[in-house]
Amino acid sequence: MAGFTVAIVGRPNVGKSTLFNRLIEQRKAIVDDVSGVTRDRQYGVAEWNGKTFNVIDTGGFVPHSDDVFEKEIRKQVVIAMQEANLILFLTDVTTGITDLDASMADILRRSDKPVITAVNKVDNPQRALDANEFYGMGLDPLFFLSSISGSGTGELLDEVTKYITDDLVVERPETEIPKIAIIGQPNVGKSSLLNALVGEERNIVSDIAGTTRDTIHTHYKLFQKDFMLIDTAGIRRKTKVHEDLEFYSVIRAIKAMDEADVCMLLLDAEKGLTGQDLSIFSLAARKGKGIVVLVNKWDLVEKETNTARDYEAMLKERFAPFTDVPILFTSVTEKQRIFKAIEIALDVYAARISKIPTSKLNDVMLKAIESYKPPVVRGNAIKIKYVTQLPTHTPTFAFFCNFPDDVKQPYKNYLENQLRSKFNFSGVPIRLFFRKK
Ligand code: GDP
Ligand code: GDP
Repeated sequence: MAGFTVAIVGRPNVGKSTLFNRLIEQRKAIVDDVSGVTRDRQYGVAEWNGKTFNVIDTGGFVPHSDDVFEKEIRKQVVIAMQEANLILFLTDVTTGITDLDASMADILRRSDKPVITAVNKVDNPQRALDANEFYGMGLDPLFFLSSISGSGTGELLDEVTKYITDDLVVERPETEIPKIAIIGQPNVGKSSLLNALVGEERNIVSDIAGTTRDTIHTHYKLFQKDFMLIDTAGIRRKTKVHEDLEFYSVIRAIKAMDEADVCMLLLDAEKGLTGQDLSIFSLAARKGKGIVVLVNKWDLVEKETNTARDYEAMLKERFAPFTDVPILFTSVTEKQRIFKAIEIALDVYAARISKIPTSKLNDVMLKAIESYKPPVVRGNAIKIKYVTQLPTHTPTFAFFCNFPDDVKQPYKNYLENQLRSKFNFSGVPIRLFFRKK
């Protein structure tokens, strides 16, 4: 059900990140089941009334220097209007309507995407009275909330989720052809990779604004296999003004990711792994997408005997604990290993949809459990009796046992590592659940 994206915009200090944290809070318990994947400051997945959506805190992308401030913030509003499905405009009752609020409101009134305005820090009845001033901005609907206490956020979420309708929520049948998203920061070589693979400059639809399709899907055939490449690189070319904005590349990456089975994450070999790359990596893992990492522009790196090996080790250290990921060293300009990368991505796809027969799973895993038993917790000997793979999109395993809550993270890691070493899940996030039998 992912794919619907809500962007929180607003001046600094109105409480965007506080609200953001609150919105993604209810989701945390589910998210934490993916072992060791950390949450990100700027974007996350929220869930309300059984509907799931991406939330982006645009404030996390604004550089904190005074002169660029207003310009940057206005740009982000424009991008949010183009890129997100819904804009959440946050204001602050304690300051009243500021000039910047008013100028953002001017832009937002022209939005053809839904805009929901919320007045934050309405912590008490007096402030609820003060907040009425914001009706003067002429933006409708208007919500009052206190992100710190959470009051008012339920009503806000009810309103947000009204816009997530079934026609936006296209579930993929599992037999469809593999979809591989090409993601990465500006200038890592995404367009070059696509052109090298497809072998020609593609024609890109000229008018982007107002179209629902934000990504380009290219049907491709290689090694007698059919697959779809999903990219956003071409679209970016048409709107050069946005290239400098991290927020822009991130929101695009999230869209491509949502539509894909496997993400091909390109890094710039010379720059190494940036914080934003790592955030995108963990987001893909959290969303249960397959991952292949391409260290591109490898031709520019001076190599000694162990350069690639050391580089890979360094990356895995940063990816930890999700280190079972294919890493390839590519040069798009020299066409080195780019077809290999596609082959590997298709292997990851196959691993991600593989279903292990229950008998085989139990044979292997019960043996592994027998040879290293779960530690006794509070005098309870934990007995895992049965394992089964659930019929989900990403590999998910249910372990049936007598004291499910007493199975701790180190033992879960052991079981995950066993699954990974006995079966092939390279590049595939897997989930483990423990249930009472
Ligand atoms: P951002 O810059 O828009 O992301 O704002 P932050 O989320 O960092 O919040 C700025 C300040 O406002 C912090 O000190 C928050 O604790 C505070 N704040 C956020 N929401 C509320 C609220 O609902 N009530 C009150 N009283 N303070 C809040
Ligand atoms: P995008 O923004 O991710 O789509 O990146 P582009 O495909 O536009 O590439 C940005 C620049 O990097 C271009 O000048 C490319 O020619 C260059 N480039 C891409 N891949 C490689 C590579 O493997 N090696 C070298 N040396 N340059 C590359």
